[in-house]
Amino acid sequence: MPIKVLPADLAGKIAAGEVVERPASVVKELVENSLDAGASQITVEIQGGGIQQIRITDDGCGIPVDQVELAFQRHATSKLDSQEQLEAMSTLGFRGEALPSMAAVSNLILTTRPAEAEAGHTVHLEWGTFTHSGPQGAAVGTSVTVSDLFGNLPARRKFLRTISTETSRVQELVSRYALAYPQTRFQLAVDGKQQLLTSGSGSPKDALAAVYGADVAEQMLDVHGEDAESGYRVDGFISPPGLNRANRTHMTFFVNRRWIQSRMLSFALEEAYHGLLPERRFPLAALNLDIPYSQVDVNSHPSKREIRFHQEGKAFSTLQRAVRAVLVADSPVPQMRPPSPIPGQEAAAPSFFPRISFGGQSGRGPGSGGHAVPYPAQSQTFDPATPRPAAPALKVVGQLKLTYIVAEGPEGMFLVDQHAAHERVLFDRLRQDSPTKGSLSQPLLEPVTVELSPAQVDVLREHGGHLEDYGFAVEHFGDNSYLLRAVPAIFTSQDPGKSLLDVLDMVAFEGLLRQQEDVLAASIACHGAIRAGKSLTEGEMRALLEQLEAAENPHTCPHGRPTMIHFSSSHMEREFGRR
Ligand code: ADP
Ligand code: MG
Repeated sequence: MPIKVLPADLAGKIAAGEVVERPASVVKELVENSLDAGASQITVEIQGGGIQQIRITDDGCGIPVDQVELAFQRHATSKLDSQEQLEAMSTLGFRGEALPSMAAVSNLILTTRPAEAEAGHTVHLEWGTFTHSGPQGAAVGTSVTVSDLFGNLPARRKFLRTISTETSRVQELVSRYALAYPQTRFQLAVDGKQQLLTSGSGSPKDALAAVYGADVAEQMLDVHGEDAESGYRVDGFISPPGLNRANRTHMTFFVNRRWIQSRMLSFALEEAYHGLLPERRFPLAALNLDIPYSQVDVNSHPSKREIRFHQEGKAFSTLQRAVRAVLVADSPVPQMRPPSPIPGQEAAAPSFFPRISFGGQSGRGPGSGGHAVPYPAQSQTFDPATPRPAAPALKVVGQLKLTYIVAEGPEGMFLVDQHAAHERVLFDRLRQDSPTKGSLSQPLLEPVTVELSPAQVDVLREHGGHLEDYGFAVEHFGDNSYLLRAVPAIFTSQDPGKSLLDVLDMVAFEGLLRQQEDVLAASIACHGAIRAGKSLTEGEMRALLEQLEAAENPHTCPHGRPTMIHFSSSHMEREFGRR
């Protein structure tokens, strides 16, 4: 399609915004233009954090000579010409704003040559005004050089960070695109030194190795999943739980190969690692969701970094399920399979499932034995000194991978997931009858102000009463602001505001995922429960097992996942050839 200036009514429908914020945003727009142009090689060179100079060279389709100057007009684009198209955008760009915006705040040179042209053409602009336009020898493709960014706007330049920070933002950005486009050869040079080179082989593993090193690439797990009903697909890589980071920087999401930021997808990913990662540790991931173009609105945010899903729940569950399936398959828990049937012996299969009997105590309901064994409200320990009403049915053997409690019972060996088990115990405690409710709350010394998103406000409206029952005290403060005065006593987090936001998010997304008995209590229990990775003393483990034993349904956590896996004595005997 030739470049045209968008008609006013269509231009008016486009979420206008600041596309040029910093060097990395210039690089992003230019890389996206190169990808839209079908480039198989993209070279990015920056000097002085990109403030001094950015040059991007591609071997894409080029711009016809007679359209080069037009490309610098506002709302001039070759990628969009109708409202219908705007509702199902397949290209990364469509607003026709990037080139004019960056030309206005820099000295810019663009040289381009389409494959069918005899020669290239170049244009020079200084602070948005053409200073030169003419033929120029050039290879097929386009190169754009942006120098002295914000040189005419000292106030804007002041907002930039140090050269090394701006440089790392550019590096991060190019790396992310390199991961999403393994068939494109990306090269990044910083002050003349090559920092990144991908092969363009088309193999995602190669791109991963170029970005993260061979070691990490080797460990990463492949994800391929499809939701049969909606046709949503997810592909990419995730780290095994043992490979994790202190922040979310290495969680990269693409939707139809557009790099986006999404709290919802971050949450879906974290939810899939539920109970597998220590607190405040995050996986590495590069995941692309393929969904019909018509089911996402990419025009909802000026920087195109946030998009709107028409069906959030489907996007959430497609990603969460695909990742969870890979993690379960990779689980370090021994996959105890039934031995090949020995003639004359009954099939052993049922005993490998998380089914446990606590002898005469299994019928005990919460409310009798349950809350007689309270947790100390403020500390995450299971006080071994507190007298127990009953002797444990399970004997603690030890802790495995700081995640599982190994225990011996009358019927063999049990592996108990400490997070899932604690979740079940807290859930039951939250759901006890009202007399104990007051003790569930932990008032804050200073109320905390929190800003809620519309989705979070919805959850608050729907579950407001119950939030209070479980220990939260939240008051409306004005607009989207709320005052948080108390949190559930089981919380040990230093950041009560974040706890509330996390719980509201969890409820919103869990609610989308499945109908369950009490999604709010389950979310609070999950947030308050000890994580994998926490070292427990023998006394703590014993206390946890005793409390689990008192639960009405000790076999599953409130999300329905098993709390324990059973290895029966008879199975072990058979496996060791003793029987
Ligand atoms: P948009 O990408 O939203 O269309 P831009 O201002 O980024 O707007 O670019 C304007 C037009 O210039 C694009 O629509 C495209 O036709 C052309 N263009 C920009 N960069 C390139 C490139 N690297 N290769 C080929 N064409 C390009
Ligand atoms: Mg563009």
